[in-house]
Amino acid sequence: PRSQGAVPALPASRAPFDVHAVRRDFPILAERVNGRPLIWLDNAATTQKPQAVIDRLAHFYAHENSNIHRAAHELAARATDAYEAARQKVARFLGASSVEEIIFVRGATEAINLVAQSWGRQHIGKDDEIIVSHLEHHANIVPWQMLAAEKGAKLRVIPVDDSGQIRLDEYQKLLNERTRLVAVTQVSNALGTVVPVQQVVELGHRAGACVLIDGAQAVSHLRVNLQQLGADFYVFSGHKVFGPTGIGVVYGKREILEATQPWQGGGNMIQDVTFEKTVYHGAPARFEAGTGNIADAVGLGAALDYLERIGLENVARYEHDLLAYATQGLRTVPGLHLIGTAADKTSVASFVLDGYKTEEVGKLLNQDGIAVRAGHHCAQPILRRFGVEATVRPSLAFYNTCEEVDVLIASLHRLAAAAG
Ligand code: PLP
Repeated sequence: PRSQGAVPALPASRAPFDVHAVRRDFPILAERVNGRPLIWLDNAATTQKPQAVIDRLAHFYAHENSNIHRAAHELAARATDAYEAARQKVARFLGASSVEEIIFVRGATEAINLVAQSWGRQHIGKDDEIIVSHLEHHANIVPWQMLAAEKGAKLRVIPVDDSGQIRLDEYQKLLNERTRLVAVTQVSNALGTVVPVQQVVELGHRAGACVLIDGAQAVSHLRVNLQQLGADFYVFSGHKVFGPTGIGVVYGKREILEATQPWQGGGNMIQDVTFEKTVYHGAPARFEAGTGNIADAVGLGAALDYLERIGLENVARYEHDLLAYATQGLRTVPGLHLIGTAADKTSVASFVLDGYKTEEVGKLLNQDGIAVRAGHHCAQPILRRFGVEATVRPSLAFYNTCEEVDVLIASLHRLAAAAG
């Protein structure tokens, strides 16, 4: 089926890589659902894994599995080398200045909690202020609320305009000498807004605040260069960037991490323990207590290698055109209301459809093999800002195609027609 309206498909000559070849790298994309080819448009929730990542995990468990750092034997050396090589890949991927700036955690949620409970507890006190934006995922709200309640600090919120972009003028008004931290997402998971984080960081620094950027929705779509961005902390989840679940990253500026007390205590993070006193390792080991998720860190390294082979610039260019194509198609569906129309957006189209609850749309699309998220996307404040409790959210990755978008639009046209 073709979408309604005169919307040109991406000419193959403009595509910066062979999307059909890329799709063959992802075995799950050949699945069928309800007798139809799977159309995976739930990439903002989690991304699918290329065979290279699946193979790397199997190779680790078949040939390298050991705990790291602690033993003198061959497999400990292989596992340690693989784990530390993954840390180097992450450092390169983010443009960090050293591997000591990269801490492995379970995901973006744990990453933000780590910063709140270590750096935050040390630096945020009574009447201090933490600024977040109205766009934030609950993972970048709740940990700060918990810290603010514990310390008697205040949470301030940067409002958004009607397109779903943050108001920089209002942000500037919120910054003051009590501002200790600014914690803002780079890309909104609910609306797809790309936030001008370079300006957020610069203005925050000018006011003397530390700045954390939540990159959970950014790293699979945009090139990140932390030396240029200058954020003090940057976090993301492996599973949203074609890597395994259960692995994520905190980047922290080296001098900040070295001056920050650890969060969890235990093995791995210590240099020396007596009953009287413990001496901690430096960063990053002091923030990695206990046995970490070794295999999945290695798998994340493989995912980043895969993504770098395609090239983030190519991914960004392709997805920009695909999102424009999808957005134009969605605009042709009667009774469909797009939420979030910022000029700078990536990969997410959020909408409601007259006559249907969002979960009904999700279930009906599933009958056509189409996977989208329907709900509040763990971002209730921003949806309520637009007067809704839930949206339907197709979200794109570089392995999605115009043909898949056509199927989505055709299904939505059928639903809209049935609603009368
Ligand atoms: N931040 C943003 C912007 C997200 O979209 C998500 C997940 O949807 C998170 C944080 C939390 O990530 P995780 O659930 O992998 O810890």
